[in-house]
Amino acid sequence: MKIVQVKCPSCGTPIRMKNKESVFLCDNCGMMHTRNHGIERIDYEIAEFASGGAGERMYMPFWRLYCDFSIRSKNVEGGSFFRLAQWIKGDRDSGALFVFIPAFDISLEDFKILSTRLTLNPPHYRTTMNFGGVARIPVLLTKEEARELADFVVVTIEAEKPGVLQYLDYSLSVKDERIIYLPFVKTSSGPVLAI
Ligand SMILES: [Zn+2]
Repeated sequence: MKIVQVKCPSCGTPIRMKNKESVFLCDNCGMMHTRNHGIERIDYEIAEFASGGAGERMYMPFWRLYCDFSIRSKNVEGGSFFRLAQWIKGDRDSGALFVFIPAFDISLEDFKILSTRLTLNPPHYRTTMNFGGVARIPVLLTKEEARELADFVVVTIEAEKPGVLQYLDYSLSVKDERIIYLPFVKTSSGPVLAI
């Protein structure tokens, strides 16, 4: 495994990273940055664990994309845009939403489950200033890759309701993106969200 060492652009502390991780996080001052297109600061949040919950704890990273969503035209038979209407705040055909993109190594099936579940039901949590000694899973997806996957999540959400969607022309524009570390506990049936 190659190790990359860079200096924190904020405080100068050396940061060592496995070279496949796409963000650098300074242990000293907490600044997160990327170097894909020059040095760019990345905002992030760490969600607090709910009290209780036995099992090994870990933090899993998600890109949370703040998006403007607008339906240009649609043709629906035998149903309605029930799921879209649920997410969109504002009038029926446009609004803003958070799209959650798993940023770690994950199967396609689990990607679909997690991204649609979190996008349709954005998690409510308290934030904390540090990881409290809990291991964090590396961020492997770049911000640019996450932006490209936003449309895939929208299409996946609609495709899950069979026989309804006939035609949908929409625009989705990403206004802001940040990393959200969500707390999970390992169980015999896989990781479970612990907020
Ligand atoms: Zn620093």
